[in-house]
Amino acid sequence: MPVPLLDLKAQFETIREETMAAVLAVVESQRFIMGEPVRQLEEVVAELCGVGHGVACASGTDALLLALKALRLQSGDEVITTPFTFFATAGAIANAGGTPVFVDIEPGTFNIDPACVEIAVTSRTRAIVPVHLFGQMACMERLLPLAERHDLAIIEDAAQAIGARRSMGGTWQHAGALGLVGAFSFFPSKNLGAWGDGGMMVTDDDALAGRLRLLRAHGGAKQYHHDEIGINSRLDTMQAAVLLTKADHLAEWAAGRRAHAGEYDEALAQLDGVVVPAVDPANEHVYHQYTIRAERRDGLKQHLVDQEIGCAVYYPKALHLQPCFAHLGFGEGAFPVTEQATREVLSLPVYPELTSVQRGQVVAAVRGFYK
Ligand SMILES: *Cc1c(COP(=O)(O)O)cnc(C)c1O
Repeated sequence: MPVPLLDLKAQFETIREETMAAVLAVVESQRFIMGEPVRQLEEVVAELCGVGHGVACASGTDALLLALKALRLQSGDEVITTPFTFFATAGAIANAGGTPVFVDIEPGTFNIDPACVEIAVTSRTRAIVPVHLFGQMACMERLLPLAERHDLAIIEDAAQAIGARRSMGGTWQHAGALGLVGAFSFFPSKNLGAWGDGGMMVTDDDALAGRLRLLRAHGGAKQYHHDEIGINSRLDTMQAAVLLTKADHLAEWAAGRRAHAGEYDEALAQLDGVVVPAVDPANEHVYHQYTIRAERRDGLKQHLVDQEIGCAVYYPKALHLQPCFAHLGFGEGAFPVTEQATREVLSLPVYPELTSVQRGQVVAAVRGFYK
């Protein structure tokens, strides 16, 4: 039996009735834009993170873009981020008028290396965008004081990490809650996925929350009156209704992902040729992806594809080597840890609905390749 990388149909079968009822209620209301479920979802996500405000928008990309727009970046302003992430992280920086400044990652977690951030700060640096990659948080306790010292904003790219936590000074802190703004994505394949595009910003800053609400609606507080230039980035009521029902299952789904990851760890840790994901002991990982390092990675990938086991390389090409960022002047070899990761990583199926037979197939297929 094939094992897909993600099986949203299997998830749908577990929530068919509640989601269909929620969607029907929206259809009956005929309030498709910014209806009541949008406000409710903003509350639920803010509460989940332990912050004051949630501001919904049309995608995770827009959540980053709006948060960065709120900083009013001037031409030449620099924003430090990681080159080992989905394109949107750096694309949003450029689209908000800033200059992305890439720095290398930690080899274990694949997250931005705070020591490299420190070295990259200049008089033009305005912000840091750490990414909580694959579902575990970056080293925020080192980034926060650094940002404070240099008067920088932190915008967390928490698109892959909704519900993830990090123990800091003895208390749990949620992904998205520590920076000035946290950005989430509800793209269907994310841990909390809509039936289309969607995103959310969270912040504890009352005034900023107000501005983000305006910026997502063309910057106007009153109709036909505009103090700032915003964009059109609303969350559909229908998406909010689906997400509200799914949010009730998020913790249980994350626990399922963690259990599967633990099983893979045990089965693959001793295998020559494979390095299982490193989890920072301070982190509670939500395993958006279960990403190994593999010797002869492309061979393993082909071997899994041949056995109809879903797998994917996130990410095959670092952002500093993308043609659109060539003008920034980072060449091959600029970020060796990142570049090595792009050659070695492979993500395996870890979605909560995986059966034990399917998990066994994944393990057997990986082991089979290295025998
Ligand atoms: C998915 C993702 C985004 C963008 O989210 P969209 O909802 O697809 O626009 C941004 N950053 C990271 C790290 C992501 O994984």
